[in-house]
Amino acid sequence: MAKLNIFIDGSWLFKACGKGSALSNRTEGAGPFRLDFERLCNALLAHAARANPNCTTIGERYLSTSILDIPADVEDWIDGTTIFDEDIQALRSSVHARDRFAQSALDANFDPSAIYRPKLRDWMLPKLRDRRFQEKLVDATVVALLVRSAIVNAGDYHVVLTGDADVLPAIRVAYPKYSENVFVATTHPDQLKSEARQSAFALHDFSSNVEPFYLDEHAAEFVDGDHVYTCSHCNKVFARSAPIPARARPCCSPCHNSRT
Ligand SMILES: [Zn+2]
Repeated sequence: MAKLNIFIDGSWLFKACGKGSALSNRTEGAGPFRLDFERLCNALLAHAARANPNCTTIGERYLSTSILDIPADVEDWIDGTTIFDEDIQALRSSVHARDRFAQSALDANFDPSAIYRPKLRDWMLPKLRDRRFQEKLVDATVVALLVRSAIVNAGDYHVVLTGDADVLPAIRVAYPKYSENVFVATTHPDQLKSEARQSAFALHDFSSNVEPFYLDEHAAEFVDGDHVYTCSHCNKVFARSAPIPARARPCCSPCHNSRT
């Protein structure tokens, strides 16, 4: 029996669930995508089992991300010239959202050891504001954990969830036999914005026996919610707290409103 080991670039996945992303556009209302990590693991396992029916259980679960630790005296840094109150407020809400995202992974039995909490330094704030702050530690961690797992558990399957072009060549170099049992889960290349086209190119160079798992195509399998449906008119995914009667065709709110 083979296991599926799961390695998530959490910083990428967090952004991939944001408003306006390929995943959010698959849902009714196109708000931030609410991801259920347990269902995501099961959807990935079902995908691996289609390639090899002996892959029946989930092994290691890692989510790597970096969540800044904001010092208590951060308000003292505000000088009105390089550091502004808005920077601190924006950072607080971003850290809060990332924290909740990481916690929901931990609640689904992900290993906490790859979640970094670096202390915020004042020089980081202008970079964060201009989106020039790079988190290379996360990419390197995902690659290292996956390659270690692939070497130790050579009979298992290993999936990397990423949209970062740098991760795939690194895996290919460190684990040349990757095509036998390593696969990628990402958003569909057609959905990528032009600045991210490089990832689609890297994916093309990463040919595996297991097809890539395109998250946006499987959104209904791992969106959070009690009763999840796919709209019979627009194909978007939506959740309801009460079930829709079995005889009725599922219809999302925007389609319902435009038809009545
Ligand atoms: Zn619809």
